[in-house]
Parts: sequence; C-alpha cells; structure tokens
Amino acid sequence: MNKRTEIAEFGEFGLIDRLTSQFVPKRTSTVKAIGDDAAVIDTGGTDYLLLSSDLLLEGIHFDLTYFPMKHLGYKVVVIGISDILAMNGYPTQVTISIGVSAKFSVEMLEELYEGIHSACEEYDVDLAGGDTTASMTGLTIGISVLGTVSKKEIVYRNGASKNDLICLTGDLGAAYMGLHLLEREKRAYAGNNNPQPQFEGHEYILQRQLKPSARKNVIDALHRIGLVPTSMIDLSDGLASDLRQVCKSSDCGARIYLERIPIARETHAMAEELKADPVVAALNGGDDHELLFTVPLAEQGKIMEIGGIDIIGHITERETGVYLITPDGGEIAVRAQGFKE
Ligand code: ADP
Ligand code: MG
Repeated sequence: MNKRTEIAEFGEFGLIDRLTSQFVPKRTSTVKAIGDDAAVIDTGGTDYLLLSSDLLLEGIHFDLTYFPMKHLGYKVVVIGISDILAMNGYPTQVTISIGVSAKFSVEMLEELYEGIHSACEEYDVDLAGGDTTASMTGLTIGISVLGTVSKKEIVYRNGASKNDLICLTGDLGAAYMGLHLLEREKRAYAGNNNPQPQFEGHEYILQRQLKPSARKNVIDALHRIGLVPTSMIDLSDGLASDLRQVCKSSDCGARIYLERIPIARETHAMAEELKADPVVAALNGGDDHELLFTVPLAEQGKIMEIGGIDIIGHITERETGVYLITPDGGEIAVRAQGFKE
C-alpha cells in the first residue's frame, strides 16, 4: 500500500524543506536560492538581482464579500514588494498572473488592475508581464517581483549576532484585528440585502488590512544614514513566526519585551470589543508587512534618529531560546504556527 503522509505532520516550513531539499543550486550565479525573503542572483556588476514570489487564493487569503478588488490589487503588489525591501533592496518590476472564473466581469478585473497600477506608481515599479487563465475556483493571483540591491548592502535573515538590538517598524496586530472586524460584520449582515456595517472609529485597522503599505521609507532612511542591518525579514506571518525564522537562520536566540511591542490604540480598542488578546494579534496575527531587523548595539542612536522604529529586545545565544519577557519578569517561550519543533 502506498504511504500517505498528511501535510499537517510537517507544517508549512517542514513541507517546503521536504520538497526542496534535493535542489542544490548548481549555478555560481545563484547566490541564495530558498530560505530568505527573496532569491539572490549575481549577474555581474555591483548589484545583485532579487526575485520573490507570492500566491494569493480567494477564500484563503482574501474574501471578496468585503475586500474591494481595487484594494486587493494594491495589496498584492505591496505584499510582493515587501519581500524585496526586506533584503535591503528596491523593487523594479513585477509580473502578475491571474486565474479567473466566470463569476468575474471585465469591469471587476479592471478594478483589480487599477489597484495594481496605483501601487506600481506609488512604489515606482513596472508591470513586466504575467499570465491569464480560466479557473474553476474563483480568483487566484500570483505575483513575482524583481529588484536590485548593492552587493555591499544586501541583508539576509542570517546575520544577527549576540547583543544585536531587535528593531521593528510601525505597529503590529492591526491588520489582524481589521480582518476580525470585517468578518464580524460579514456574519452580522449575512443574507441582508442592504447591510449597514459599523466601521466608524475603526478606520486605522481597516486600512491596515485593506490598504497596507510597504516600508520603503525605512529602507530609504537606512540608506541615507549609511546603516546596514545585520539581519532583516518582513513580517508576513506574525512576529512570533518571523522572529523565530531570523533566530533559526542566524543560529541565535532572542529576548523581546512585552511592553515594548508596538500596538496601536485602535488595535487595543478593537481587541477589547471582540474580547481578543491584542498581544496574540501582534505575535501571531500576520499581514502586518512591517520590517523586523537587527543592528549592533552601538547603532542605537542612529535608530532613534530615524524615528518610527521601536527597539523591542535583543539577540542572545541560541541555547537561551526565543523568549517574550513580561513586565513582571515572567518568561514565555515564543512559539509559532508553521514550525515543527
Ligand atoms: P515569505 O513569507 O517571505 O513570502 P515563505 O515563507 O513563503 O516566504 O517561503 C520561505 C522560503 O521558501 C522562500 O525562500 C521561498 O522562496 C521558498 N518556497 C516557498 N514555497 C516554495 C515552493 N513551493 N518551492 C520552492 N521554494 C519555495
Ligand atoms: Mg517575507
């Protein structure tokens, strides 16, 4: 009898490892293949080429009952670009591939592309191609992003070392709380032809879910002051999972402090209303697209100078693990979905 192994036994990252372990890069131009936010390719010259892919499926990554097509187009580009920024690079071209079922009209797809166009303008990237095909199951969107980074300034996930400061842009958990608000209103108005959803006062968390931005301004600032982080990752799966990725790649541990994790007032308010824990939203929520990076201790002053960046903890030796420290000194091991320990 053929053996059948359930995907859940591996987790997402275990599955990727299992499927790709036999692929050892043969070309000298392949500097980094799998395991970072983007692949790194050496085509000669002073820069590396960066390449990253993402796939979004209706019903898994977005729900079109409340996600406007235009915003979806914008968000797809932001998600793709964020992975290039996380290598300390700049995006230059995107390709977009769509699978569409008969329920979509030309007008709806035009709206999607309006959003894509708007993000391409905003982040100064060109649409360089893609593919279009029929689908049985709603909308599928694939994006690939090309970018460049100076060889001297490239930042991987694996460069963090002991005593480095752990820095975080923006705030966390808002996109996740925005999603919960949208889901609540969807449930409340199911079957109602004239829904009047209650979104007042929740503009911030909705914007974080429906029209996120990529932190190009932070990459600009780092370049301006000549500071190259020791490691960096974009926060797509939540702080817990992504910090653990950095620690695993860099072979180190970390201590982050609960009271230093930036959570917006609006995120706290929504969490209270929904009886959810805002810290859980920050740690496991995902979809924030902020940048998590590390710098040597001596660079603290420069980080403060940039503004809008929080230092949430520091890197430790691998043996000490990855811990969240509570205000009363309690230590909670940081665990993450997608990981098999
Ligand atoms: P991100 O969250 O930054 O988009 P992922 O967690 O999706 O990155 O992927 C982790 C790494 O695994 C990346 O280097 C990605 O290119 C690689 N990867 C993911 N899925 C596959 C796959 N099906 N085949 C080959 N490589 C993959
Ligand atoms: Mg990423």
